[in-house]
Amino acid sequence: NAPLAEVDPEIADVLERELQRQRSYLEMIASENFVPVSVLQSQGSVLTNKYAEGYPGRRYYGGCEVVDVAEELAIARAKALFGSEFANVQPHSGASANAAVLHAIARPGDTLLGLSLDQGGHLTHGMKANFSGRLYEIVAYGVDPETSIIDMDEVRRLALEHRPKVIIAGWSAYPRQLDFPRFREIADEVGAYLWVDMAHFAGLVAAGLHPSPVPHAHVVSSTVHKTIGGPRSGFILTNDHAIAKKIDSAVFPGQQGGPLMHVVAAKATAFKLAATPGFRERQERTVRGAAIIADRLSQADVRSAGIAVRSGGTDVHLVLVDLREAAIDGKQAEDLLHEIRITVNRNAVPNDPRPPMITSGLRIGTPALATRGFGDVEFAEVADVIALALQPGAHLEALRGRVAALADAFPLYPGLQQ
Ligand code: PLP
Repeated sequence: NAPLAEVDPEIADVLERELQRQRSYLEMIASENFVPVSVLQSQGSVLTNKYAEGYPGRRYYGGCEVVDVAEELAIARAKALFGSEFANVQPHSGASANAAVLHAIARPGDTLLGLSLDQGGHLTHGMKANFSGRLYEIVAYGVDPETSIIDMDEVRRLALEHRPKVIIAGWSAYPRQLDFPRFREIADEVGAYLWVDMAHFAGLVAAGLHPSPVPHAHVVSSTVHKTIGGPRSGFILTNDHAIAKKIDSAVFPGQQGGPLMHVVAAKATAFKLAATPGFRERQERTVRGAAIIADRLSQADVRSAGIAVRSGGTDVHLVLVDLREAAIDGKQAEDLLHEIRITVNRNAVPNDPRPPMITSGLRIGTPALATRGFGDVEFAEVADVIALALQPGAHLEALRGRVAALADAFPLYPGLQQ
């Protein structure tokens, strides 16, 4: 039981260098966050040793009486946090939660109606190379090319034409709130299930800053590691008892073997923290920060460089930038920001003229910096840095200095050693 640095110095070095990278860069990938030390503790704990196939009180292995407590707490806290009657907290990831949802409410060959990947949807909502696109018939809706907003009349038209088994509402890159009652109305009209994937905005829902899909959807899936800021993993909610039974058997034995009990315990802690006033305050800073960035990137100097904010702003934790008219493409913009130590990801815009590895857009998110402590003043500063960096002739050295000052003012994991 020698320490990692002794057993495997190469991997110990990776851990140390990654900690330094996270400390010295400003993390603005919209799907990332920093877990609290309490969550790191569970994830690096002896719970990783335990097999616990099945559910609390009905396991296929002995010795589960202790880990049962962790899963019971995670379930109770998820239900209380989101006001749902049922929760399954075992999915290893968002994608495996989504696979289980489809396993529960559809059969291979059924038709799904979801937001297309290039317009903001997720791989698991029907992308060709993903299991969802391979097993199911996919019909995709998109956003209005002018407004970048989902056209609900078009969703209804496609639903009436194709009579899907499942309508998927949810996104990976969309800056506005979804109209859950309208989605449900359309689902009811065509006899479809409404599945909401709230992976991105679940933290905002938990904080009461975004409408909850739970009263409207037949089933809701989510990740825990994006706006919630918990361990990398997924969970599923429903108020329908028949669907709940199907979800449990779709997760185990349908999709997974043994749950990751160290992650399940960390989920319990994340849900506990998400019910606190401090969490709500952080989500408020997250949403305000995104609005501050959208405002700065809408100003005349940025606009005259051919850069636009898609949908004209944001209601959530991210901003989508359209670079179709700009001198730089998505890849160049991502690389440029990386040079000054801001991490973002390039992102396709609807009907993107450039290939997916290049793209003509950026996705900029605020959850990780809000967790780091950023408020309005710091978000205004980072917004200005980004606005200047993306314009031709930017003084990168000076901007790098401003980024370093922000990173230094908000130390990440102070005192932590890997
Ligand atoms: N659903 C949505 C909407 C997502 O954005 C993501 C991740 O990007 C997922 C599901 C998948 O989560 P994971 O990466 O944990 O499989």
